[in-house]
Formats: sequence, C-alpha cells, structure tokens
Amino acid sequence: MEQSLAHKRALVTGAGKGIGRATAKALLECGAEVIALSRTQSDLDSLVQESPKMLTICVDISDWEATENSLKDIGRIDLLVNNAAVAILQPFLSVTEDAFDKLFDVNVKALLHVSQIIAKGMMCRGEGGSIVNISSQASKCALRDHAVYSSALHTRQHPGEPPLHPLPSIHILLVNVMKCCVISQHVSEYKIRVNAINPTVVMTAMGRIGWSDPAKAAGMLSRIPLHRFAEVEDVVNTIIFLLSDKSAMINGVTLPVDGGFLSS
Ligand code: NAP
Repeated sequence: MEQSLAHKRALVTGAGKGIGRATAKALLECGAEVIALSRTQSDLDSLVQESPKMLTICVDISDWEATENSLKDIGRIDLLVNNAAVAILQPFLSVTEDAFDKLFDVNVKALLHVSQIIAKGMMCRGEGGSIVNISSQASKCALRDHAVYSSALHTRQHPGEPPLHPLPSIHILLVNVMKCCVISQHVSEYKIRVNAINPTVVMTAMGRIGWSDPAKAAGMLSRIPLHRFAEVEDVVNTIIFLLSDKSAMINGVTLPVDGGFLSS
C-alpha cells in the first residue's frame, strides 16, 4: 500500500512474529521510524537482520515495571499499534484461573498500560496521534473454546457497544475493564484517534493454534462469504490505513477485516 508516513515515529507491540512483525516492516517501508517491541530477543534480532533500520525493545509487556522502564525514554511516538496478544483456547467449563489471568494480563492490562504511557506523551506534545488496537472477530461473536480470549479481545475495541458473549460474569467484568480502556474520549480533544480492527482467522503461529484442524477450518471458512481466511497483508493494509491521515476522520470504530463473517 502506497502511503507516506515520513517523519512519523511508530511503536508496534508483539512485533516479533506474525501480524505485528509484518506491520513493523510495512511501516518502515512507508517511511516511518519504527520501534518493534516483543519479548523474544531472537525474533527481534532476525527482524533487524531483515530490516536494518528497525529499532527494537525486548520486554514482556505483562510485566508492568519492566514495561515502564523500557518505555520511559522512548521519545516521541505518533503511531501506536497494540498488537501483542496471546491465545489460550479452552472449553468454557474447563477455563483455568491461570489461563484467565494470562489472557487478561497480556491482552487487556498490558494494552491499557502501554496506551497510557504513549497517550500521555502524545498529549504532552499536543501534535495528535493514531492508535490501532488489534482485536478479533472473536470479540463480536461466540466461538467454541474462545470464551476468555474473545472477552479479553472485546475490551481492546473502542467501547460504545456491549459485549455480545452469553457469559454474564465476564460481561460485567468486561464493562468495567472497558471503561478503563476507554481512552479515546479523554484523548480525542488532543487529536489522538483510537480505532480497533477485528480480523478473521489469519494463519500465523496464533492462527494455527485454533484453526489447524482442517475440519474446524472448513467450518469457519463456510461462514466467511469470501470463503478464505485473511492474509497477513489484508490486516496490515487496514492497520496502515487507520494509522495514516487517509483515515483522518475515522475515530472510535471497530473495523472487521473478516470477508463478511460478522455480517453473515
Ligand atoms: P502471533 O503470531 O502469535 O504473534 C504475537 C506476537 O506478540 C509474538 O511476537 C509474541 O511474542 C508477542 N507477544 C505476546 N505476548 C507478549 C508480551 N507479553 N509482551 C511482548 N510481546 C508479546 O500472533 P498474530 O496472529 O500475529 O496476532 C497478532 C494480533 O492479531 C493479536 O492481537 C491477535 O489477538 C490478533 N488476531 C489474530 C488472529 C489470527 O487468527 N492470527 C485473528 C484475529 C486477531 P512471543 O512469540 O515471543 O511470545
């Protein structure tokens, strides 16, 4: 996608693999200075080998203090992609406390924390900014074994719509966590846009956890009107669009990248 992001500085979380890695590389190609954050040093090393201009931060963003230390001197950030997440899929009746905590620590709490740090910097500088949260189609519909993953991802969206999951306790928790995640109302007056995207299945390492079984994949594909999963590039193009000034009037949307799955 041709898009100039020259003179912009971007931070991408979870940039070691998959969608985050491809997003960081695409942002570099658009002329931005890019900081790729992830928690496995070897992934970041190979990323720098492929893209020598890439700057990197190695930190586990579920570690609150380590994240603060890593980001305190990050300098100006105009564009933030909250992409890092984990997927632990368990049947509803077998969901463990540990899995619940891990999912919320990374997929919700860390996202809130990184957003706080970066948005405060954007507000201080007063030059605006754009934040894109990577959510999922799973946040808007009930999928087998996705109870906690889906709920965690629902909170990554810009609020304004209630969670759709038939799980009352998580529903209540979500509403409260979401209120904390609603930063865009506070930051809009500083010309900071916050949007979320909801991809369908993408066959990254994470996608393979849930969808490697051909029978299961076929069931999902049959519900996607375009009859295919998303490619990493489909997701990256949407992220770049929402980060760029081409979407200057788009704020607070949750945009499916799902081939029509959520409309069918
Ligand atoms: P992925 O291939 O598993 O990559 C995730 C990246 O995030 C990895 O580099 C991982 O590092 C990093 N990460 C995870 N936890 C982290 C932490 N605590 N601190 C720092 N980095 C961390 O996943 P993906 O498929 O690209 O997914 C990217 C985003 O898209 C996620 O938000 C996901 O929920 C969303 N999404 C994915 C799909 C799909 O089907 N793939 C569909 C809809 C939405 P390590 O490998 O070192 O842990």
